[in-house]
Amino acid sequence: MPGFVRTMALSLSMSAALAGCSMLPQAATRQPLRQATAVFAPAPAERLCLASLGRTNANFTPLPDRYFGAGCSTVGTVQLASLQGDDAVLALSNLGPVACPLAETFAAWARFGVDRAARQILGSPLVRIETMGSYSCRNIAGSERRSAHATAGAIDVSAFILADGRRVSVLGDWAAGSASEQRFLGTIHSSACRRFGTVLGPGYNAAHRDHFHLELSGRAFCR
Ligand SMILES: [Zn+2]
Repeated sequence: MPGFVRTMALSLSMSAALAGCSMLPQAATRQPLRQATAVFAPAPAERLCLASLGRTNANFTPLPDRYFGAGCSTVGTVQLASLQGDDAVLALSNLGPVACPLAETFAAWARFGVDRAARQILGSPLVRIETMGSYSCRNIAGSERRSAHATAGAIDVSAFILADGRRVSVLGDWAAGSASEQRFLGTIHSSACRRFGTVLGPGYNAAHRDHFHLELSGRAFCR
């Protein structure tokens, strides 16, 4: 059962229990409510996102909101354990909290953008996406502005493992891989640009020579 279903079932049963409290005799109201208030219940907008993320057959756990100060927070985030490809589960490496809408777009890109391109161009399905993380309390390199990573709003993707054992990395294969590996990386970079608001890769600057930065915000900023 996906993590969110468990959580929602738990919070629903807890709401039912709370609703019942007001109608119970006096003795019952003395029962401690601390446990109930500690239950994590996502906001309505996030529940919709969790439900649609669940429909992608991603395996994930909703995370409690946390505020770290200095413009850094993880609000409405999930911990993704795996995604669903056309035929098989797609494993993930090094991914921390991800904002739910970003996770949903990432799940669609992984399946329809990456897994299918791997089959068509490289002749083998995708089995794992390696990342360099998601949440990080930091500024955009060389600026005073907080990065989308400071609110778990961006994922840095570094390499792709195929079922035949091949590993195609942004660092090693963007410019120096075989013709088909370069075409694969170029194709999935382009398909990311159609789904995410901001996509930065090796063509943007040296700081992105080893990964694709994928962020929902922005308007078709694709480099
Ligand atoms: Zn990034």
